[in-house]
Amino acid sequence: MNLNINTNDKGNLSIGGADALELAEEYGTPLYATDENRIRENFQRLNNAFIKHYENFQIFYACKANTNLSIIRILEEEGCGIDAVSPGEVYAGIMAGMDPQKILFTGNNVKDEEMDFVIKSGARLNVDSVSQLKRLAKIVNPEGFKISFRVNPMVGAGHHEHTITGGKKSKFGIMDKEAVEVYSMAKEMGFDPVGIHMHIGSGFLDIGPFKLAVNTLMDIAGEITQKTGIKFEFIDFGGGMGIPYTPDENILDIEPIAEEIIKIYKSKLEEYDMGEPTMCLEPGRYLVGDSTYLLARVNSVKEGYKKFIGVDAGFNTLIRPAMYDSYHHIVIADKPEAKTTQTVDVAGNVCESGDLFGRDRPLPDVKEGDLIAILNSGAYSFSMASRYNSRPMPAEVLVNNGEVDLIRERENLADLFSNQIVPPRLLKKD
Ligand SMILES: *Cc1c(COP(=O)(O)O)cnc(C)c1O
Repeated sequence: MNLNINTNDKGNLSIGGADALELAEEYGTPLYATDENRIRENFQRLNNAFIKHYENFQIFYACKANTNLSIIRILEEEGCGIDAVSPGEVYAGIMAGMDPQKILFTGNNVKDEEMDFVIKSGARLNVDSVSQLKRLAKIVNPEGFKISFRVNPMVGAGHHEHTITGGKKSKFGIMDKEAVEVYSMAKEMGFDPVGIHMHIGSGFLDIGPFKLAVNTLMDIAGEITQKTGIKFEFIDFGGGMGIPYTPDENILDIEPIAEEIIKIYKSKLEEYDMGEPTMCLEPGRYLVGDSTYLLARVNSVKEGYKKFIGVDAGFNTLIRPAMYDSYHHIVIADKPEAKTTQTVDVAGNVCESGDLFGRDRPLPDVKEGDLIAILNSGAYSFSMASRYNSRPMPAEVLVNNGEVDLIRERENLADLFSNQIVPPRLLKKD
């Protein structure tokens, strides 16, 4: 099994050396619990695999996967930069002590005020369209201003249609065939285009399309260099590396992948005489996805036409199953390796029928009061959570070799309404 399930000597699920039952007891449920070392291991595995073959290599963590500041701090300590897709994420990077030069802002349909904010913060700007480039020229003096472009290499890949971000249907980036023209336009305007970028999609376990896209982007970059004289400082292949969510999905074997990608990279650099630009990757899910468990308490067991295990979290807490039909493995925290004895639906507490964490899921015996753990809840989990049904956002804890820190307080009911303003004429008079 390729999933991250560890037990302690009591047979309970262990999260970074802490007992899942004790975490739930102390901090309440629903609770996101993150194993710090897992994030460090994921980063080091990926970084070492590439850096060993090519020294000018930099990882930017795509922090939309999880913007908890402690998690960004961990990755900053490891030497990682961040890929930010909104001013809020640039702000998160700065709050977490990230060098602004290691923050790459890749926006989509960006407005002028947002570019202004990003420039003032000192982050790098990755431009998505000619429209954005022209507006940028009015906001900043283009003379010598460093930019990069996101290019659509006409290849896409991902775990769901909505997570594919390359190809003819994609709203992202400039077209492959207009790239040379756009780079020379930027140069003529006075900009210093130093980078080229792609991101083809999220959650792929087959490396074929990614390899193809790397090839294509390198040819585009090479053509730009030859026709415009632009020397790239960095070439960014985006993220998207998947992780296994089901017990029988494979782990990406990163060593041979790194070797293959770097081989393509080096030979294209040589072919087009491009020097030694920094190679960048922007993983989100790969770094944090399997570091975190969502703990939820079973509050009802209902036997009707189907058997439902009802828990105290919902798609407001973790939306991926409802939104992408994603599989998240579920274990019973006091017996994560017990034999399955029944097939049940694991349902959340939101008032919508689509609020299920698992349909027809084989599970061991479960009773009210049991604790379940939903695996792989580190990426696109808390960061997509909402207050729907007026439920406060859950707490997050970070575990480091058994030491536990609260890294986000659970919200309370007053927090839910703290930004609302009732006009005086509607206030209750008594
Ligand atoms: C979302 C995103 C990523 C990371 O995607 P993962 O699948 O989490 O690796 C990288 N780059 C950009 C521009 C993104 O929008």
